[in-house]
Amino acid sequence: MPKTRKRKTSDLPAVVRHDGGLCVTFVNSASRWRKSIVTYADLVAWGLRLDVLTGADGERLERAAAQRPAEAEAVARRAADLRKLAESVLRALEARRTPAAGDIETLNGLLSAVMANRRMVPAASGYRWDWGDRGGDDLDRVLWFVLLSLSDLLTTKYHRKVGRCAGEDCDLMLVDRSPGSPRKWCSRCGKPARARKYYQTTIKPMRQAMRQEIRASRTRKAEENRRRLREKKAAGED
Ligand SMILES: [Zn+2]
Repeated sequence: MPKTRKRKTSDLPAVVRHDGGLCVTFVNSASRWRKSIVTYADLVAWGLRLDVLTGADGERLERAAAQRPAEAEAVARRAADLRKLAESVLRALEARRTPAAGDIETLNGLLSAVMANRRMVPAASGYRWDWGDRGGDDLDRVLWFVLLSLSDLLTTKYHRKVGRCAGEDCDLMLVDRSPGSPRKWCSRCGKPARARKYYQTTIKPMRQAMRQEIRASRTRKAEENRRRLREKKAAGED
């Protein structure tokens, strides 16, 4: 089994990894620390930002949404439902519990709809996966990738790596992909936390050592002055 986390098949964007990071980012969009997904345009913008959609995909979906606004609104509602479902699953994983059977059943139903859009097409060498040509009728394309990401998370070792940022007042979820020490912070909190740690372990001890050295140097000088004074006095008395 290759160790790479990125998909080799060409029908999935590189951001859809086995570690489920995309579905976690999708759930995090409900946090006050992230730009929320409310409208269909928000969903497309999120897909473009995360490289789930290409620029051409984005333009095509925006055009289709303008032609079929009611359908686009329905997709935005489905996106909100999916976020709640994904959050419920992730919360269970975070608590090291088995997700609710009902959630998995719903997820399986949604996944079968995604799989119905996948096709094998001839490739340079054999066949490759592609998406069925729905003539632009794929307004929920972004949700397909979120669903695949969530199913990947559940079926790989990363389902045991879901956690929550340790940052004060932060509710963002994360997948711990670090090979060494456990990841504690999200990208937002990680930088200040690392800066605080650097200050506590490096800068602060350095400053304390400098202050001690200054105090010791002053004491040495004062003692030297007193010694000279004593010597001068003793010389005068002679
Ligand atoms: Zn955080």
